[in-house]
Amino acid sequence: SKFTDLPISKEVLQSISKMGYEKPTEVQEKTIPIVAEGSDIIAQAQTGTGKTAAFGIPLIDKVNTNEKKIQALILVPTRELAIQVARELKDIGKTKKAFVLAVYGGKSIYHQIKFLKKGNDVIVVGTPGRVKDLIDRGYLKLNNVKHFVLDEADRMLDMGFIEDIEYIMSKLPKEKQILLFSATMPNEIKKLAEEFLSEDYKTVK
Ligand code: AMP
Repeated sequence: SKFTDLPISKEVLQSISKMGYEKPTEVQEKTIPIVAEGSDIIAQAQTGTGKTAAFGIPLIDKVNTNEKKIQALILVPTRELAIQVARELKDIGKTKKAFVLAVYGGKSIYHQIKFLKKGNDVIVVGTPGRVKDLIDRGYLKLNNVKHFVLDEADRMLDMGFIEDIEYIMSKLPKEKQILLFSATMPNEIKKLAEEFLSEDYKTVK
């Protein structure tokens, strides 16, 4: 199959072609239409399958880059992943001029606050601890978030982030799309999905 068979804008098709992606991976083929239609999703996908672009491509198309408010929040377990996911989203969003900010521990919080104060970012990718800290300090405003992604959810639970995740979720607007990606599907992940996703969420494997 081809990227042009999927619901993707011309601008984003241009970006992904520049990135050298010739055809969608399996998880992208299955996930992009579901995210594009606005459904919640729980996707079982390993690293290396193209899972980042599977949520990144439709999210870049869903955010309104003229509205300088944070519209999508992506939680990831590690700073390396935050940097990597932000980089890929920036590339996908290049033609749409989507601003993406990565926030994570181990780096000066003031530097990240400086960017948040500018107020250009429409997508934030971050680790749970730093995201929580920035919310508490009043710099990360989530009242316009319409899309929330838990990436490598099983790893985040293994690393003990569940309380931070639940705290962050309690600060998000009620109406939002939730995308949950996990390499494995233990009971805790199923419970999390049952608790937070809309009743008619879709599953991808
Ligand atoms: P991920 O599973 O998101 O960590 O992606 C693994 C690698 O595959 C990354 O280096 C991506 O840049 C690359 N990638 C993602 N989608 C595609 C695609 N459709 N065609 C070629 N490479 C891709």
